[in-house]
Amino acid sequence: MSRFWSQVVRDLTPYVPGEQPKIANLIKLNTNEHPFPPSPAVVAAIQAELGDDGARLRLYPDPNADLLKNAVARRYAVTAAEVFVGNGSDEVLAHVFMALLKHDAPILFPDITYSFYPVYCGLYGVDSITIPLAADFSIDPADYCGQPGKNGKIGGIIFPNPNAPTGRLMALDAVEQIVRANPDCVVVVDEAYVDFGGDTAIPLTQKYDNLLVIHTLSKSRSLAGLRVGYAVGHPALIEALERVKNSFNSYPLDRLAIVGAVAAIEDETHFQTCCQAVIATRTQLSADLAALGFEVLPSAANFIFARHPQRDAAELARALRERSIIVRHFKLPRIDQFLRITIGSDADCQALTDGLRDILG
Ligand code: PMP
Repeated sequence: MSRFWSQVVRDLTPYVPGEQPKIANLIKLNTNEHPFPPSPAVVAAIQAELGDDGARLRLYPDPNADLLKNAVARRYAVTAAEVFVGNGSDEVLAHVFMALLKHDAPILFPDITYSFYPVYCGLYGVDSITIPLAADFSIDPADYCGQPGKNGKIGGIIFPNPNAPTGRLMALDAVEQIVRANPDCVVVVDEAYVDFGGDTAIPLTQKYDNLLVIHTLSKSRSLAGLRVGYAVGHPALIEALERVKNSFNSYPLDRLAIVGAVAAIEDETHFQTCCQAVIATRTQLSADLAALGFEVLPSAANFIFARHPQRDAAELARALRERSIIVRHFKLPRIDQFLRITIGSDADCQALTDGLRDILG
């Protein structure tokens, strides 16, 4: 630690590097990547952009990524002025915390949720209040309707839907109830996993100017390596994000990411087929784990959250790792007996089930 570090930096816990190990032949079921490659159209678009000699890489990309904004706008029947794009949804979220959630009042989010929200609160000086999940690990919308913060005000609300790492989905009418009950603050719905069984809240952005929906191409579009995410909401919300972006990183997306992302969004058939395959594998894996004695939470995501009543989750994770299978374990109150397991290929999930059967004896 250096004496030059600010308090914010001193308080930061870096993202566990062990989650992206540099070991070959691992069965990697820990960071919710998609088991199938992206659409072949993505590869073709990137190759076309590169050309024979890569000459176009000399030139800066379009800072507004208009091609991509238009593709998102067409896909969700909104206008390009309602779309913001960034280098992965983590970067989009960073802009949201800076531009839309930093106020004099605390923001609300669930106590078990995406681990970056508290990190961004620390980085950008956003005060927060966390709300415990219900006994069944669901989010109760009533907890976000009329809950006063300090001085009776709240600075915003953010939650993933489906939630991470639980995988539990909130119905769209419950999302709408929260948005409607909070007309004076921004409600951010992080839909990183919505394509695996939920309905997107994007159509509601046409009705409510305080709703911002965030998507990523890392999960359902198999493009975690390309780093593309976007937000959809009222043009005034998007303008706030653009202002921060233009003072921070005017060129968030490179040329290859822009054309690749457009091709992925335009290949609806590939997208639907691959998501349906993941959903089918999730059903099978949930049944297989239940047969091994696990309690599996209902999941609408490309991962499942499960615990074994008799076995320690950290021990199970360690034993799986010895068999070259990595899953995610969180050393956090209330969920430290759970494993979060990404839905891999059928073969990966079979190897996981075989490994667990062996470990459980
Ligand atoms: N939101 C949630 C809920 C996530 O789980 C993740 C992935 N870790 C992200 C956002 C960020 O995804 P990306 O930056 O790859 O778009």
